Amino acid sequence: MALDISRALRSPGQRFPFQHEEYIAPQDILGETVTFDPVLMDGHFAIEEGRLHLEGRLTTAAHAACAKCLEPARYAVDVSFYEIFTRPQDLVEEGGDDVDPLDRLAYDGPQLAVDQLALTLTLLDLPMRFLCKETCQGLDNIVGFQRETHADQEDLPEQHPFSALQQLLNKDQEV
Ligand SMILES: [Zn+2]
Repeated sequence: MALDISRALRSPGQRFPFQHEEYIAPQDILGETVTFDPVLMDGHFAIEEGRLHLEGRLTTAAHAACAKCLEPARYAVDVSFYEIFTRPQDLVEEGGDDVDPLDRLAYDGPQLAVDQLALTLTLLDLPMRFLCKETCQGLDNIVGFQRETHADQEDLPEQHPFSALQQLLNKDQEV
């Protein structure tokens, strides 16, 4: 899906608000499958001196298995962005290999593709590993923990440790 920037092309120098939704396909990250809710981008865009300025906020939720107990874990992605898109002909003139890839964003016509931008911003914001909660003790510890101090740990899941694995298998079959 592309973002329609025709209003900005018609009225350079003027800022226009936008709301945009993108979809990110499940990503294989270090052997882990991470899935994403629809990505919401909202903010403003404007054409200034031939360049497109795109500024706003990107939010979504990423889902993967907890690194310790394999229960489903959710991570809220929330990033601010400010990107400048150059016309393709200007990109060639500037050239140079030392430019950051995100600075080489180009726009060509009224339909602006932002799927790669959304993917890059989202992946860069992901944590090193997913945890179902900060204090997750992992499978082995939860079993021992519940036996000893069950009354004090009401927030721990009362499940057989392998139910987490079973859940993963079921999830795979649904896809
Ligand atoms: Zn966990």
